[in-house]
Amino acid sequence: MLLRHTTKEVKEREGLTINPAKTCQPIGAMYAALGIHGCLPHSHGSQGCCSYHRSTLTRHYKEPVMAATSSFTEGASVFGGQANLLAAIDTIFSVYNPDIIAVHSTCLSETIGDDLQQITKKAKDDGKIPEGKHIIYASTPSFVGSHVTGYANMVAGMADQFAVSTDEKKNQINIIAGWMEPSDMREIKRLSTELGVKIVLFPDTSNVLDAPQTGKHEFYPKGGTTVEELKSTGDSIRSLALGCISAEPAAIALEKKCKVPFETLDMPIGISATDRFIMALSQAAGVTVPDDITADRGRLVDIIADMEQYLFGKKVALFGDPDQLIPLTEFLLDLNMKPVHIVSGTPGQRFEKRMKEILQRAPGANFKNGLGADMFLLHQWIKNEPVDLLIGNTYGKYIARDEDIPFIRYGFPILDRIGHSYFPSVGYTGGMRLVEKILGALMDRQDRDALEEKFELVM
Ligand code: SF4
Repeated sequence: MLLRHTTKEVKEREGLTINPAKTCQPIGAMYAALGIHGCLPHSHGSQGCCSYHRSTLTRHYKEPVMAATSSFTEGASVFGGQANLLAAIDTIFSVYNPDIIAVHSTCLSETIGDDLQQITKKAKDDGKIPEGKHIIYASTPSFVGSHVTGYANMVAGMADQFAVSTDEKKNQINIIAGWMEPSDMREIKRLSTELGVKIVLFPDTSNVLDAPQTGKHEFYPKGGTTVEELKSTGDSIRSLALGCISAEPAAIALEKKCKVPFETLDMPIGISATDRFIMALSQAAGVTVPDDITADRGRLVDIIADMEQYLFGKKVALFGDPDQLIPLTEFLLDLNMKPVHIVSGTPGQRFEKRMKEILQRAPGANFKNGLGADMFLLHQWIKNEPVDLLIGNTYGKYIARDEDIPFIRYGFPILDRIGHSYFPSVGYTGGMRLVEKILGALMDRQDRDALEEKFELVM
């Protein structure tokens, strides 16, 4: 019983978080930056911060994640980190030769008050950015928000600092990816190709963090949204932001800078959210939905109909990031399951609003985000109302073990399993994978608990 100190009695807490259901902003900024082709993320802070961000991403993706750091010491902490960052820019371009450096701040540089806009402008004015190379930045103070906020800030920075509006509109649609796996980004591109719609997807970590093994190390893998594509987003006819927390800020930045109209959608996880995505994309581009996509949807419906008896009424607790939890909760309801406890450490009123709308179909469900929404609270809720299934990142394994609950790893970070970066959970095929995982967990438990005379070969 690793969590034996978790009490059943829930008390209001204001100044204490126990086992947070989130991590720090720069991790999200670093992940987003890896979705630009030829980009080296740069952490403006101490070496320890950068090591933590890199190691978390490396453990989740099982790929080496490259990033640079301003390597703050006591001097930078007192006098500011400008000199460190300017020296780092020189070193990075001369030694590592990226096309882009994407700088994000950290708790320390934000507390000192370093102004990344001013420092990167000085670098440009001083001629430290070679011809054809770029530097962008995002402010990511980790004492507010979460890794999701950091991701959103860096993606908004890409839109704001790269998009250019010319007089010539391009017949293309921007798809702004909320925080999703490389496999999900690949699936979004596949669906757009099937629909016959030209898109610019950004960021795009496919072929960066799921690049094939070729026997040769590529410092900058071939994937990622290119600078030319990012510039062209200002001329697109429309933007679709997949996620109101992690993607919408970039769509707002694009509208403000280049007057590109946008629509915010839930991430296409599960049948209803995927329906809305496919319809929005086909309507924006003026195309009809091809039979192959309709057939994928039909297969998902067929699985659900065939296996309904194993799903009906099963109670689920879930935790993680808001843009995934919103459509995932809706999908569980579409499967006739009962989401009863939902926790996200990422703050923001949009989560509460969407959850209230979705959970009208599940009156009495507990949900909380932001301050006080932590793993300890989730465990307490589970002790008070046990569940049949737990869904969340690797940190949920302690609760699952102590309470003996079937557990599906989903979200970020997953440190003890693979598959998430290779198999999508978005779209109808992603929905099929999710149902398969849910059924596998529930039916394995049914087998394990069955009395000998009730142990069935055919289920
Ligand atoms: S000090 Fe701040 S930025 Fe650095 S690792 Fe900790 S939370 Fe993240």
